[in-house]
Amino acid sequence: MSQNCCAPILAGSKRKAVAPQTNRCVTCGQKGKKVDIITLKAVLDVSLLALCEGPYLFCPTAACSVVYFAADGLQSYTKEQIRVGVYQKEPGDESVLVCYCFYHSPATIRAELLATGRSTMVEEIEGGVKSGQCACELRNPQGSCCLGNVRAVAKRVMNELGAPATSTLIKRGSTSPGGQ
Ligand SMILES: [Zn+2]
Repeated sequence: MSQNCCAPILAGSKRKAVAPQTNRCVTCGQKGKKVDIITLKAVLDVSLLALCEGPYLFCPTAACSVVYFAADGLQSYTKEQIRVGVYQKEPGDESVLVCYCFYHSPATIRAELLATGRSTMVEEIEGGVKSGQCACELRNPQGSCCLGNVRAVAKRVMNELGAPATSTLIKRGSTSPGGQ
């Protein structure tokens, strides 16, 4: 008959369980992108004992050092706690990978453009994806395919080099360069 003494404790733990999920970065306030917990397990460079059930989100803000944060805002991991350089967090470092499965960085994309005037990275990556050779969820800190980022980098570097992007970015199946 003395079980009622537990009531206040239950009330306390219940309050903790309903922390609101804002999905906004605890540091910069930017809305995060949901990332599977397997990505954190693969790329975190710290003990996984502190991992909670999540969900976790990825913060893409360059100036913010937080890479992952729990949706309830109670936990976060910074770029110093990740095994690899994070593309979104190092916009000024051309050596940081943008494609983590086939090892392309803005520097390698620039080198190919300078040497050949063309970029074959997108084609190569698409081929690798089709052959089942990619593992974006395990290797790319954003937990998803890098192609959008690679296209953006190729376009930016082409602009910097003064090359017309439409004629130098190889497109599968397009064989007619004329018609401007
Ligand atoms: Zn942030």
